[in-house]
Amino acid sequence: MADFDVAVIGAGIVGASCAYALAATHRVALVEMEARPGYHTTGRSAALFEEAYGPRVIRQITVASRGFFESPPPGFSSSPLLSPRGALFIAGAGKDASVEKGLADALPGTVEEISRAEAIALCPPLDTPWLRRALFDRAAMDMDVNAIHQGYLRGFKAAGGTIVCDAEVEGLERAAGRWTLRTRSQTLRATQIVNAAGAWADRVGALAGARPIGIVPKRRTAFIFEVPETAAEIGQWPMACEIDETFYFKPEAGLVLASPADETPSPPCDAQPEEIDVAECAERVQAATRFRIERIRRRWAGLRCFVADKCPVLGPDPDVRGFHWAAGPGGYGIMTSPAVGRIVAGFIRQTGLPDDISAMGVTPDEFSPARLYS
Ligand SMILES: Cc1cc2nc3c(=O)[nH]c(=O)nc-3n(C[C@H](O)[C@H](O)[C@H](O)COP(=O)(O)OP(=O)(O)OC[C@H]3O[C@@H](n4cnc5c(N)ncnc54)[C@H](O)[C@@H]3O)c2cc1C
Repeated sequence: MADFDVAVIGAGIVGASCAYALAATHRVALVEMEARPGYHTTGRSAALFEEAYGPRVIRQITVASRGFFESPPPGFSSSPLLSPRGALFIAGAGKDASVEKGLADALPGTVEEISRAEAIALCPPLDTPWLRRALFDRAAMDMDVNAIHQGYLRGFKAAGGTIVCDAEVEGLERAAGRWTLRTRSQTLRATQIVNAAGAWADRVGALAGARPIGIVPKRRTAFIFEVPETAAEIGQWPMACEIDETFYFKPEAGLVLASPADETPSPPCDAQPEEIDVAECAERVQAATRFRIERIRRRWAGLRCFVADKCPVLGPDPDVRGFHWAAGPGGYGIMTSPAVGRIVAGFIRQTGLPDDISAMGVTPDEFSPARLYS
């Protein structure tokens, strides 16, 4: 029976970043139920790196991830992981309070208000009576999600890690300080487990006898449509996100990606888009822009997974020995993945939070599953 120090369950971006961060010091197995890593939420994102997005802790660990993306270790990727994009937060009539809140909530130096004319110069399709005010984060970047995910997996394997696919974990038993993982295809042993099972995190927790963290998978839809502008013109536009996140759109390889920013609770599953969500989004985007959405090339949906406070759950389970959580990354899992991997590795090595993250005033309790027990 294959024997490891750590078994990471789930080879999405979260599991891959944890396995990558641990591989230098531990014998690690990365165990995935699908035939290939990244099939679920990780392969379905909008790929934006945005330091002004999400709750405070998310913003802090996004900032703590930037350095890795900007200067990854040699050999991690042959192409840049980030490229300039910029993000406009656009407001129609009656949204002044949301604009003021957006300015007040932003970390210093990240977001500024720009004039309507400046916003239209950045993104000409916004030249409609709908637009009243706009905030701009010039530092928002596009991420190459595939390069990041593959970089983690390649680095993990190069450091001696083992990836096991087609291996849904169906049973977890602990005896004499060791876990036995029974999967659909084989049985593995490990001293410690990291639960990075995305939408299935509470199901995997239950296999280990852990209390639920209350993970709620929320479906988010995206689609790609054609516009008459050239790829070079489209490529200059920033992402444009309605100030209350009722829709957003951004350039995507010569086409435009849009999302209704839906958050429909769902059981864990292979999420599929609903026609009504696509149609409502198309309507909202057309009302705010000069776009006429006539040809949709592709549509999809993925599950963004949240606990009650929308912050991730990272670190040891308070009751079940040798069982660690890496769950609930919400809509931020790609951009926070370098920090998440380092944080989880710090818990397993018992070295505490990385210094740069502690220095921001973040504490381990902010990630603990215990904060969620009522
Ligand atoms: C439309 C959309 C837009 C988004 N935009 C952004 C964005 O711009 N920026 C950003 O940072 N994030 C974004 N996100 C969020 C981001 O994609 C997620 O936070 C991230 O992918 C979650 O990664 P994960 O590894 O937790 O989940 P997953 O990728 O779902 O991985 C979990 C893995 O666990 C496996 N698994 C489950 N149960 C078992 C089991 N029992 N045994 C073995 N394996 C198991 C699954 O097969 C799966 O591969 C977006 C998401 C969506 C849907």
